[in-house]
Amino acid sequence: MTTTQESSSLGLQRSRPRVVIVGGGFGGVYAAKRFRGVDVDVTLLDRGTSHVFQPLLYQCATGLLSEGEITTPLRHLLRGYSNIHVALGEAQSIDADQKVLTASRFDGSTFDVPYDYLIVAAGMRQAYHGHDEYIQWAPGMKTLDDALAIRRKLISAFEMAESLPTPEERKPWLTFAVAGGGPTGVELAGQIRELALRALAHEFQSIDPGEARVLLLHGGDRVLPSFNRKLSAAAQATLDKIGVETHLGVHVTDVSETSVETTSKDGAKAKNRFDARTILWTAGVEAVPFASVLAQALGVKQAAGGRIEVNPDLSVPGHPNVWVVGDMMALKDLPGVAEVAMQGGRHAAGCIARTVERGAPDRKPFKYRDLGSAAYIARRHALVQAGPIQMSGAVGWVSWGVIHIAFLAGYRNRFGTLLNWAVTLASGARRERAITYGDPQSARQPYDA
Ligand SMILES: Cc1cc2nc3c(=O)[nH]c(=O)nc-3n(C[C@H](O)[C@H](O)[C@H](O)COP(=O)(O)OP(=O)(O)OC[C@H]3O[C@@H](n4cnc5c(N)ncnc54)[C@H](O)[C@@H]3O)c2cc1C
Repeated sequence: MTTTQESSSLGLQRSRPRVVIVGGGFGGVYAAKRFRGVDVDVTLLDRGTSHVFQPLLYQCATGLLSEGEITTPLRHLLRGYSNIHVALGEAQSIDADQKVLTASRFDGSTFDVPYDYLIVAAGMRQAYHGHDEYIQWAPGMKTLDDALAIRRKLISAFEMAESLPTPEERKPWLTFAVAGGGPTGVELAGQIRELALRALAHEFQSIDPGEARVLLLHGGDRVLPSFNRKLSAAAQATLDKIGVETHLGVHVTDVSETSVETTSKDGAKAKNRFDARTILWTAGVEAVPFASVLAQALGVKQAAGGRIEVNPDLSVPGHPNVWVVGDMMALKDLPGVAEVAMQGGRHAAGCIARTVERGAPDRKPFKYRDLGSAAYIARRHALVQAGPIQMSGAVGWVSWGVIHIAFLAGYRNRFGTLLNWAVTLASGARRERAITYGDPQSARQPYDA
């Protein structure tokens, strides 16, 4: 890998205002799309090539969907937008006076991207609350790499168990601990049980995958605290039915290669250690490192979780040409959900577009339209909560499916996902389970000679 620090701009001609968008997630893509036909040059920068549909990451992690079905190449997604340039790179630093953002390429070299307007939608990452040493044993669930690492861990665990001679040796490999009882933790725990109960049920000779013990470890007094109590109780009943073992009111206080320790939050502070070879972490999020870089460069403070506080129009206080949208922004108590990011991205881009078109600042306060939230629990059971509308069970499950298909990017992904769901529903099969020992020769980087 080279570490040269050569700098070069992207070679865009300066003829009209330049907009730079950092992040090709929900916020960044919806911001970019708002610029169709607007007289600006847009650069969309992301450290990955594709838009990832995070709400279905757990289905990719558990072998139901392929990575292709939950991602769309950004270049393909924005191919019809002649004023949008997609750049692969990781935003590293920013010179707010000169209005230049510096990003790094895969090989470590850097390039500069000048801007007149900047929209940052770089999202969050998993938070380990001061215990970064857990990362090596307990991967989080925020990126495509996380989902693929989890898939590898899950499939390897069943294979390891199958190869061991005694039940005692197999047990820790067949114990799966998920930290965090929010939507991601609940979805992941439910899917691991379904993988064991249905997809793998008749494929092993020595083990019964149905014996897989799935522990859901949660600090609160009920799972899915963002849903109302009735829906949360319905979810708990389904988790109990499919055999997920829920432990409420506990903190995870230690993680190692072979075990996880919990401590009860009550006065007793009772400790419990579970021998588990697969530990997954969904307990909390924090802003990606670029948020601190941005805050420092702009001289603003970070809010809880490292988010950047924004004005009502989503611009950064004191920096009318810089906007932060999506999970990374802190505004009132808006939740970190896809709709906030999509609407926020569109709003910030709209302010810029109108300013450019009218030749004078045109900013409106952001008004969030809450379309509700949904969570998958198990086959034929999902929750949907939207204002007075509350659904669970099969009705919720169908609605959940419709919502997710509608928001997946591209007809191909929608069709592929629907087909996969139908096949899995009918047969239980999950085919995205290919793992290998790894071939040292194929570890060569694409730019190696
Ligand atoms: C497992 C999971 C399930 C979820 N389920 C739901 C759900 O059911 N419903 C719902 O509404 N929401 C759900 N969410 C939340 C939703 O996905 C987020 O709110 C949404 O993705 C936020 O959009 P964003 O644009 O702010 O950030 P993201 O979508 O995270 O996009 C950030 C982008 O920035 C890029 N990036 C980061 N740092 C840099 C850098 N330095 N340089 C360049 N690029 C960078 C990343 O590669 C990424 O593409 C879920 C999230 C997860 C993780």
